[in-house]
Amino acid sequence: MRSGRGNDELRKIEVIKNLNKWAEGSAEVIWGGNRINVTASLEKRVPPHLLNTNSGWIAVEYRMLPRSTSVRKIRNENLINTDARQVEISRILGRIIRNTVDLTAFPKKTIWLDCDVIQADGGTRIAALFGAFIALHECLKMMRTQGIFTEMPLKYRVCGISAAIKDGEILVDPDFNEDFSSDADINIFQNDKGEILEIQGGAEGRGYSGNKLMELLEKVQPVFRELFDLQKNIVDGG
Ligand code: UDP
Repeated sequence: MRSGRGNDELRKIEVIKNLNKWAEGSAEVIWGGNRINVTASLEKRVPPHLLNTNSGWIAVEYRMLPRSTSVRKIRNENLINTDARQVEISRILGRIIRNTVDLTAFPKKTIWLDCDVIQADGGTRIAALFGAFIALHECLKMMRTQGIFTEMPLKYRVCGISAAIKDGEILVDPDFNEDFSSDADINIFQNDKGEILEIQGGAEGRGYSGNKLMELLEKVQPVFRELFDLQKNIVDGG
């Protein structure tokens, strides 16, 4: 049992929508000790491979600012080699978000979702996705008012939850200290129909069994429902 929180209890989550006066959509997420700023920007062009198609595109870029972390993190542009973790997380979030949207609703347009971690405390990719979906939703609403489409081109909504396994115990939504000392760190991404879109489940100390993974998947289902309710209130709210 962890101190101060039940094993399947989420940290406190707060979202401020549309703080950015220029972006077509934006969300600042405060999720426990994480603080993440997400903007959605609409651009009237697509990557080269989509030039002759009727598909639009959504790109996600995730990164951490220098003092988002306990020791200063060097800015990526100052590195000779790109930060592989940042690239990996950007690709995962992009794939998940694109899965939720009918891209043919906005041909020849790209929505950029820029996720900047201002302060990190475990589970930043999950918190970034939460903000990215809300910023995207705001952007799509604006595009609808511009007459780009009449129906919101969303197939479903999406959320992620992380869970750690420590000495056989499952801790939902671990903070940095819990994540750091765990045997495995598992990120699950689902839609609001209860379908799994992606699982990343790396063992960092000890491996885990298939049964433990099944137990974990069961355990996070009520937490997903809670998170989707919160997300719905935020996207429907003013
Ligand atoms: N972290 C850090 N520096 C880094 C990468 C990660 O301090 O360069 C910390 C940060 O608190 C982060 C946590 O380690 O939230 C866990 O990182 P992980 O790569 O598992 O991603 P996350 O859990 O944030 O999605």
